[in-house]
Amino acid sequence: MKLTIKQVALSLMLFLISSMYMFFAHYYFTQRDITAEVLISRIKSDLSELSYIISKQVKKEPIETVKPLLDRKSANTDYLNAIAIFKGQQVVMSTDHRYITYPNANELYTAPNVDNFTLLHSKQALKTDVHYFEGKIKKYYTLIFYIDKAFIKQNFVEAKRDFILFFILIPIIFIAIVWLVLGRLIVKPLEALRQYAYYNSKLPAPFKVKEIEYIRASMVQTFNRLAQEKEELYKLSRTDSLSGLANRSYLNERVAQIIDLSNREKKEFALLFLDLDHFKSINDSLGHDIGDQLLKSIAHEIKRIVRLNDVVARVGGDEFVIVLTHYKGELELYEIIERIQTQLMKPWVIKTYPIHVTSSIGVTVFPKDGNDIISLLKNADIAMYEAKARGRRGYHFFTEALNVKTQEYIEITNSMREALKNGNFKLYYQPLNDVKTGEIYGAEALIRWTNSANEYISPNLFIPIAEQNGFIIELGKWVLETAIKQLKTWQNNDVALKISINVAALQVQQQDFVSHLKFLITTNEVQASNISLEITENVFLNDSEVLHKTFSEIKALGVQISLDDFGTGYSSLSYLKTFPIDILKIDKAFLDDYDTEAGAIFIETIVNMANTLKLRVVAEGVETLPQLTYLQSLNCHCYQGYYCSQPVEINRFNKLYSESLL
Ligand code: C2E
Ligand code: CA
Ligand code: CA
Repeated sequence: MKLTIKQVALSLMLFLISSMYMFFAHYYFTQRDITAEVLISRIKSDLSELSYIISKQVKKEPIETVKPLLDRKSANTDYLNAIAIFKGQQVVMSTDHRYITYPNANELYTAPNVDNFTLLHSKQALKTDVHYFEGKIKKYYTLIFYIDKAFIKQNFVEAKRDFILFFILIPIIFIAIVWLVLGRLIVKPLEALRQYAYYNSKLPAPFKVKEIEYIRASMVQTFNRLAQEKEELYKLSRTDSLSGLANRSYLNERVAQIIDLSNREKKEFALLFLDLDHFKSINDSLGHDIGDQLLKSIAHEIKRIVRLNDVVARVGGDEFVIVLTHYKGELELYEIIERIQTQLMKPWVIKTYPIHVTSSIGVTVFPKDGNDIISLLKNADIAMYEAKARGRRGYHFFTEALNVKTQEYIEITNSMREALKNGNFKLYYQPLNDVKTGEIYGAEALIRWTNSANEYISPNLFIPIAEQNGFIIELGKWVLETAIKQLKTWQNNDVALKISINVAALQVQQQDFVSHLKFLITTNEVQASNISLEITENVFLNDSEVLHKTFSEIKALGVQISLDDFGTGYSSLSYLKTFPIDILKIDKAFLDDYDTEAGAIFIETIVNMANTLKLRVVAEGVETLPQLTYLQSLNCHCYQGYYCSQPVEINRFNKLYSESLL
């Protein structure tokens, strides 16, 4: 059983008071008995004194003469009602005519076997004998004192009143005072202390009781320390230790609040997903120290640009999320985003290193692009990747079309590997024809994919995705192998055909590209000069010594190089001179325009230039006879297009080829 301080104090007080009561009660009763005894012995001595006087007087004079004596005594003695003298049962005289009968035994003080107090209260009369002689005979009168009971009582009543006053009232007052003091000095302050510990709100005032004050002071210290530690932990759990910005969990918490508020106020807000461009290379070249310092400065700068109650969080190495809640319309939103991007682009100086960074931002707007943090973040991420894909240092708003594109991207990425394992990829072949004679001299290998749901997926869709996610390396190897094997089959059958194989930029950049190509050529024992690799101008984006080396190694093998889709990229003609290119493939777009002046000029210029540079020219996308006739009027060597055939399966291609020989 647990007791409160008040309960303990109260029990202690009760114990103290009851022992006090016992002591005082004992004292009171003793006192009362003493008073009674004093009274009785006074009465007794008065009685015997009077009987002595009377007995002396009646020796000489008749009994009647004592009457004045009795009257005087009765009048002067406070406790007497009357004095009477009896002879036997017969009254001789009485100081009061009401007291003339002899008191019965009950009323007489005879057997003193009760205590004096009871005696005084229960008996009314005391008697004594007065002896005298009539001649020689000894006779006696009976002298009786009638006691005034009211007077006796009064003696004790006073004592009782004192008793009540001292032993009932005073303790009650005492208890009340102690109770109050206890409450004021101990219980209430302790309660304040408890509340402070619980809510940590109002600091309790110092206590008046010293010991308790010590407790209070040390407890307040402890509570403060704990509260501080708690706050630090809380802060730590919500902030990113490097930048001091909100972390992901605090971002979730805040966005949930902002969503609530926006729902209530029917307002929108924007969530920005910001990723630094090429941050990894800064980290790699200047060290993580500088990288961290840069992130800190950037965090600080973003915080400075946005409003105080906008949320800025760091959610990954160089990824930041900014939630903008106050902007009037799209224009202001663009403005803020642009301000962030231009501010981050200013030259940074970190530990004396000048650094230049750009950022890509994806933007989602609540509720149109998502109504919870997960979809907002996911879509902002998608939009950010789109911004990166569009050449970085820009921002992009999320759209549903973008979402579909991303979904497609994810689906295709996931199913491509399976497709390669399951043999769902095939190579089709499209004839390459001589413009003058029309004969088929070769074929371009073009990949085809029919997925498990029997849907045709265009290479225009999945090749760019494979280039993005790197799968093109594996897939390209398979294309190269399959195409070269086909060449070997032709060769074995004495079919004199060349093969043209599309190769992605990423493939050419692989260290083992040339060795793999060489391996395929030697193991299949094919003639390298019958192989042509189709590359696009993209390859030159990454102009480097290594690339030059790769090209000369390809050339050294005897393999030809075609520049595909010529005219569509950013054509810097210098590449035609510095790289060993054998063939130019004029893009279909120009053939489509051959009958306009601009189209014709372009085609003719390319053909002339190619001839000067001693390059062969292949015109792509020739669909009609007039197109072919036009090409024949120029010095264009080859063509490719539906006019002869679409890309077809190998069997159909072979058939087509044999028919063309007839
Ligand atoms: P590309 O290399 O420019 O291939 C020519 C594309 O034009 C082919 O589309 C072909 O079917 C189409 N074509 C040819 N003649 C005509 C014509 O007369 N009219 C029309 N309308 N189209 C014609 P395809 O097969 O859909 O390939 C698209 C692109 O995918 C290719 O463009 C190439 O860049 C890429 N690709 C195809 N196969 C491979 C491959 O094995 N490896 C790599 N890296 N890329 C490939
Ligand atoms: Ca091609
Ligand atoms: Ca092409």
